Amino acid sequence: MLKVIEDLLVLQDRDRKIRALKNELTTAPLERKQFDDKLTGIQTAFEQSKLKGKTIEVERKKLEIEAQTKRDQINKYQTQKFQTKKNDEYQAITTAIEHLERDISALEDKELELMESAEQLRPETLRAEQAAGAAKTQVAGQQADLNTKVTAVQEQIAKLEEERTRLAGNIEEDLRDVYDRLFATKGEAVVPLENEVCTGCHMKVTASTNNKVKAGKEVVQCEQCNRILYRVAY
Ligand SMILES: [Zn+2]
Repeated sequence: MLKVIEDLLVLQDRDRKIRALKNELTTAPLERKQFDDKLTGIQTAFEQSKLKGKTIEVERKKLEIEAQTKRDQINKYQTQKFQTKKNDEYQAITTAIEHLERDISALEDKELELMESAEQLRPETLRAEQAAGAAKTQVAGQQADLNTKVTAVQEQIAKLEEERTRLAGNIEEDLRDVYDRLFATKGEAVVPLENEVCTGCHMKVTASTNNKVKAGKEVVQCEQCNRILYRVAY
């Protein structure tokens, strides 16, 4: 095999490796986002559970104040009741007090319901808090692992690119340009010729091209796809 073909094949091997590693890196931002989204989801569930608890407590306080206002009103009526000399006024106050007592009783029932809801919610909130804590730790670990992996891949790429530059320096400039263009546009620049067929475009080459590749004395390109051809050693 021509020395220059051997050189090109080594160069292509490094270029393939660089390309594969760069592909690996493209998924990293997506993975990072997936980790973050997962954490946000679990944290939101906890925040919502906490908020639900606070809302219940605010509502309960409101009922408590309302009931207290009515109790204060009853106390005022009680005083008026014992001060009045008029029977009908006495009756009216008694009825008003009864209404207020009924209202207070209803408010207390509602308060009790809210307290039960809060009681039921508590373990749920606790579980959500624990889940959020665990997810935070887990996601931090996953992000750290991903960062380690990305750094390792970047180092591998840097090493390969250094080697690639050195290898490319050994190849004559015009041929290197042809190679670079083919690798960038067609994925593979140097391909084997098998049974007179270019394995890049799967077309049969001419007899003349076939003979030149067989002779192995010059760089030959496929007349269909321009890829550089070489004969596989048997
Ligand atoms: Zn071809």
